[in-house]
Amino acid sequence: MPILLKNQTSTELRASLAHAGVTPQLARRLLAAAVKRGELPALGGDLGARLRDELRALTEIPHLTLDRKVVSPRDGFARYGFRGREPGLFEAVRIPLLHRPGDLKYVACVSSQVGCAMGCAFCATGRMGFHRNLAAWEIVDQVVKLQADSPHPVRGVVFMGMGEPLLNYDAVMTAIQILSEPCGMAISAKAITVSTVGIIPGIRRFTAEGRRARLVVSLTSADPVQRRELLPVEQGHPTPDLIEALREYHAASGQRVTLAWTMISGVNVGEADAQKLADLTRGLPIKLDLIDVNDPSGQFRPPSAAERDHFRDALRAKLGMPVVRRYSGGQDIAGACGMLAGDRGACQREQNTGAGR
Ligand code: SF4
Repeated sequence: MPILLKNQTSTELRASLAHAGVTPQLARRLLAAAVKRGELPALGGDLGARLRDELRALTEIPHLTLDRKVVSPRDGFARYGFRGREPGLFEAVRIPLLHRPGDLKYVACVSSQVGCAMGCAFCATGRMGFHRNLAAWEIVDQVVKLQADSPHPVRGVVFMGMGEPLLNYDAVMTAIQILSEPCGMAISAKAITVSTVGIIPGIRRFTAEGRRARLVVSLTSADPVQRRELLPVEQGHPTPDLIEALREYHAASGQRVTLAWTMISGVNVGEADAQKLADLTRGLPIKLDLIDVNDPSGQFRPPSAAERDHFRDALRAKLGMPVVRRYSGGQDIAGACGMLAGDRGACQREQNTGAGR
């Protein structure tokens, strides 16, 4: 089996190819050329030509195939559908960020799995079920392809596409290392966000390994009974244990814990919900990201402006912690949080958006 470049960090490449005379410096050049140009590096002289032949025989540079791309005329979000070597379409979303006038940057929202086993009630990916884990190179190449297709730099990555990243832990962490290596995509680990629905062993491992990426945990309800209905993960990963794991994470990393809250009209946006959250997280420094639900089935609706304002005021009064409302873009192209559904969602979306292959 050839060694897949973009699937190993430069340190791993050096170890895998040490028998061919690959030095740490050459391993970094190999990774840089594979990631940035999709080719082997130029190596001069007879020795270089022989080494290049050997590397050609030992390695392979895999590429994703772009299946479809749709750009929102409303907010510039772009949804990409990719295929790797194994079956299944998976999606990435390019999010435009305007820091200063004329200073456009992008964040890549990437998938870690095809489908998802977590079955969150309001998520189109969850309704697909789990199909397979993505390889590290398939994660890295989503960012590479988005960057190659973009006139401005990709400066951040969020694991908020299809799948639960902490259930594909090794591939996700390898991909993060490659994306953050200076010879990889040189995206700071602090600008990479891993968003989990609350996989406790994964959070503990993330803590023990001292990972520098940002961690976001979808809580969505502080009431375990209600949370189990919305996020079935609650059954095996109960809220009290989750909060305990987050206290350990905070103690070890010194980081404020970011909790995400998907707001659903009439369900989890009342004063009592704010109070339960305040009780649950007492003594734990948190930041709360509020996001409107995007349920393509229409079963769950986003809160009205009045509900949203009332909830935010209650949270500010009871929590005394930062509360931020996140804009969930790309809704018109089914590229918003909770709307990615690969092959299953494609036909319906293409009817809605007028997009085609
Ligand atoms: S919200 Fe995330 S964890 Fe939940 S089903 Fe969707 S992709 Fe999976």
